[in-house]
This record gives sequence, C-alpha cells and structure tokens, in this order.
Amino acid sequence: MTTAARAEALARKTRTPIELERRHGARNYDPLKVVLERGEDVWLFDTAGRRYLDMMSAYSAVSFGHANPTLVHTLTEQAKTLAVTSRAFHTARLGPFLERLCRMTGMDRALPMNTGAEAVETAIKAARKWAYKVKGVPAGQAEILVAAGNFAGRTTTIISFSSEPQYRDGFGPFTPGFRSVPFGDPAALEAAIGPNTAAFIVEPVQGEAGIIVPPVDYLRAVREICTRRNILMIADEVQTGLGRTGRVLACDHEGVRPDGLTLGKALGGGLLAVSAFCAREDVMAVFAPGDHGSTFGGNPLGAAVGEAALTLLENGPYCETARAQGDYLLARLARLDHPAIIDIRGKGLLVGVEIDPAFAGARQVCDALVDEGVLTKDTHGTVVRMAPPLTIKPEQIDQAVSALGRALASIEAAEPVAA
Ligand SMILES: *Cc1c(COP(=O)(O)O)cnc(C)c1O
Repeated sequence: MTTAARAEALARKTRTPIELERRHGARNYDPLKVVLERGEDVWLFDTAGRRYLDMMSAYSAVSFGHANPTLVHTLTEQAKTLAVTSRAFHTARLGPFLERLCRMTGMDRALPMNTGAEAVETAIKAARKWAYKVKGVPAGQAEILVAAGNFAGRTTTIISFSSEPQYRDGFGPFTPGFRSVPFGDPAALEAAIGPNTAAFIVEPVQGEAGIIVPPVDYLRAVREICTRRNILMIADEVQTGLGRTGRVLACDHEGVRPDGLTLGKALGGGLLAVSAFCAREDVMAVFAPGDHGSTFGGNPLGAAVGEAALTLLENGPYCETARAQGDYLLARLARLDHPAIIDIRGKGLLVGVEIDPAFAGARQVCDALVDEGVLTKDTHGTVVRMAPPLTIKPEQIDQAVSALGRALASIEAAEPVAA
C-alpha cells in the first residue's frame, strides 16, 4: 500500500458517521446532531451510550416501541423461514394478514405495498379506474380533490398536488388531474365537486402540515357529501392510523367509514416498510391481474410483521394509552404556560406545539431538546411534534414536558427576547 493509500484508508476509518454521510450522501435531509445506535421501547441511545426519550417514533412508524420483543421475534422467526417470494406465488402469511387488516379497518379488501407513498399511489389509481369503469367519467378526465396542506409522500405524482412549494420546486412537469380545497371546510369540498370528480383524499388530522385537527364532525360531513355526490372518500391514515389518535383509525372517532384507506408507517411494526390500500369491494374490484403491483408488496416477512403489529394493536392497550397519555400530554403542556408557546393541539399521541417564530424556530427548539435528552423533529418550521411510541408512561411525558420547559429557557438565556 502506498503512503497516500494508507493515509486515505486511515482517514476513511477515522471519519465519523456524520462526516461519511455528509461526504457520500445526498443532502435531502438535515438531521439533528445525534448519532443513534440502539433503541429500546421509548428510548434511543447514541454512539456514546447517551439515552434519549423518543418523542417522534419515526413519524409514527415506531408506535409499538423500538425493538418490540413480540415483533422482533416474529421478524426473526419469519426471516429464517421465508422472507420474500414476490406475488407470483401464494404464501402462507399473506391471507391471514389481509384478513386481519380488513377486519380491523372495516374494509372489504386490502392491497399490500411497502411505503406510504405507494399506498397513496395505489389509492389514486383505484380512484381513477373506479371513476372510468364504475362512475362513467369520460376517458382521461377523472379529477381527484385533495386537501390543501396535505402530505402524502414524495413521488412525482404525489408532489403534483402538494401545497408545499419546496416539495415541488424543480421537479415538474407535474401529474395533472388534482385540485386542492381548503382543509376542514365541507362547503368548499362540496363546491369543488364536478361531474368528473372521482375522489377526495384527506388526512383525518394533517400531520406534516403541523398537526392540524379539523373542526368536530368534519369527517362526518365529508362522508355525507362524498356519498351524496358519488365520489370516493379516501382517508390517508398513513400517520393517523393504527392507534395513533386513540382509535384504530382516526375516522373511528366520528364513526366514519371511508371508501378507501391508506395505511403505512406503524403497519410495519417499526421494523419494515409495510403499507396497504384498503377499500370497499366495488372499488378494489377495478384491479385485474397485471394492473398494479410491487416486487416486495405483501412479502411473507412484511405480512407476518404487519399481522403481528395488528394483533398487538387489537389485544394491547395502545389505543387506550394514546387516548389517556395524549390527554395527559396536552394538559402537561398547557401547564408549561410559556409565552413562546402560541398553540398546543392534537389528538391522542399526535400533538403539535406551535412556537412563536419571534421567539425561535421550532428547529432551534428541537436542537435544544437534544441537549435535554429528548428527540423530536419540527414540522412546518414553527411546530414541535410530540408523537412518542404508544407505550409511553406518564413519568416519561413529565420528562419530555420538563425538557421542553428547559429547552425554551435555554434559548431565552442565550438570546433574551425584547419584552
Ligand atoms: C408519511 C406519510 C405518507 C408517506 O409515507 P412514506 O412511507 O414516507 O412514503 C403518506 N401519507 C401520510 C399522511 C403520511 O404521514
């Protein structure tokens, strides 16, 4: 080895994980300055062994806690048995997973995919084909309504209906056939529906938009309008689903059953990417063999873990915890009574704390929280997200809220705000 090669090899060895990411990764994320190595329930540990409370749970993907023993057991046993076959063959795991998924969501059929974005893409394809084959919309004319402020993933079609300029900037041309209506406003939805409208896709609580909870009875009103006007109501519950808001589906709070439903994130038990589009019989009936698919969608490993995650949700206290601890978190946050906090909102354990931008950016608060041993991520610049695993205990919520208090105080101390 030449001296130069030796020096290069040594440099490679001594570069930190952050340096390696910076040197070799694309710059599409800006992570907080912490290098994680291990997770256990609500706890994350960095490479120095320091412990953090996870108040984000990977955007709800880790609702059952890190390294949930039941799920890890299912994963490892299934990995040793049979992991991936493609859908060219039946497997012993897919049917039982789909059956449980349908039973727990009240849907007739489910189509498994991997990421949330793929589930939404599947919903879009189903809605368009339903419009042509069932509703009788002229070829190529189907229109899908979406809610302003939506987040449904990052594919080129999905960003085509995003209201976030950065998600779109430089990525056009965009997929046509989408129109956006204000979120939380049934009258605006009704007014936007035309003869070629196929569906309305809506998050029951908007997550990435900043944890926006719509007015009471919004979903019920949407359901009534969609039924009366013969368009599909598609609930994007990739983030709100599977116990996050205190019910299996956020739609359950209003007793609403959508025509189509997207799930993801927690469906993979915090271990894998497992998603699904679930729907009413006549909606899913539009798919014929060859219409749609995915190499990994519905693989035995994902199906086994997904089924185990659903079983945990059905038999465990996760929904109850989300309700009780969500209420407790909101109450504790309200008692912080800090002038920089201008709004606290949420449902279950999906909570947003809006920070006065004159005080600090939400990112700055998240940075300060790292020093206090709490991990979460800002959303939309001004909102600190609080969405821990659905296994969190009251004393851990106390810890998170005290840490937020100290984080705000440390920012204040560093740069006192003018009164
Ligand atoms: C995260 C999310 C998606 C996209 O899921 P990915 O797995 O990141 O593709 C879709 N819809 C909602 C509501 C989400 O929160």
